Amino acid sequence: MQTIISYFNAAPDSDRILLLTFSFFIFWNLEYFLNFNKNFNKWSHLSLNAKFMLSAAPVQFLLGILMNFTLKWTQNHQFGLFHWMIIKNPLLLFIATFFFLDFCEYSYHVLMHKVKSLWQFHLVHHVDTHVDVSTTLREHPGETAIRLLFTTVWVFIGGVSLWVLIFRQFIQIASNVMAHADVRIPEKIDNILSSIFVTPNFHQVHHHYLQPYTDSNYGDVLSIWDRFFGTYSCLKENEVVFGVDTHLQENKIDTFSKLLKLPLEPKK
Ligand SMILES: [Zn+2]
Ligand SMILES: [Zn+2]
Repeated sequence: MQTIISYFNAAPDSDRILLLTFSFFIFWNLEYFLNFNKNFNKWSHLSLNAKFMLSAAPVQFLLGILMNFTLKWTQNHQFGLFHWMIIKNPLLLFIATFFFLDFCEYSYHVLMHKVKSLWQFHLVHHVDTHVDVSTTLREHPGETAIRLLFTTVWVFIGGVSLWVLIFRQFIQIASNVMAHADVRIPEKIDNILSSIFVTPNFHQVHHHYLQPYTDSNYGDVLSIWDRFFGTYSCLKENEVVFGVDTHLQENKIDTFSKLLKLPLEPKK
C-alpha cells in the first residue's frame, strides 16, 4: 500500500495522459470492430471533440494551482472531514474518500442539469448526436472551470489527500472513457455490472435526446446514487437516440466555434 501511496503522491501529469490515451486506444478499437458496418467518420468526430481538450488545457493549468494550494493547506492545517475522522487504515481511507467524491460528482452533475446557466455549458457535451469515446473529451472550457472549482470545494470540505485524489482520477479517467464507448454490454451482464458501476448501457440513456431520460443516470463511476435517489432509468439499445431535443439541427452544432458560443445563446 505504501508503494501505491508514494506513486500517486508523485504521479506526473504525463501518466494521466498516458492512461487516457491507452483507454482511448482500447475502446476506440473495440468500437471500430464492433461497429464496422456503421457509416460514420470517427476521425472527423474525434478532431472536433479533441479541440475541447486542447482549449481546456489553460483552464486546467490555472485551476490546478488553486487545487494544489487547497491540498497543501488542508494537509498542513489538518482541516476537513477525513482529517477529523482519523481513518488510520489507508485502504479504508481510500474507499471512504472514493464514495465521498463520487457522491460529490453525482451532485455536481445534477446541478449542471438543473441550474439553467450551468446547463448552457454542460449542453455542449450533450448535443453530440453520436456518442463514442471522443465524447468524453467534449467539455466546454467554461464547464471545465466550473467542474474544477467544485472539485476544489469538495477537496477542501473533505480534507482529501493528494494520493487519494489522484488514484481516484486514474479510475475516473478509465471509467469515463468506457462509459462513452459506442458499445453495448449484453443485457444480462449489464444488469449486474450497472447495479454498482456506470456502464456504456447506463450512460447512453443519459445521452438520450428526450426528457426524462436526459435528467437521469447522473452517476460518475458508481451508479448507486441514481438508484438510491430515484434518478435511474433504462432504455433498450434501439430506443436510444443521442442529442438534445432543443438542439437537433446539425448545421448549428457542427463546428468548434459554434459549440463554443452555445452557452451565450438565449436560454430555452
Ligand atoms: Zn449530463
Ligand atoms: Zn457523457
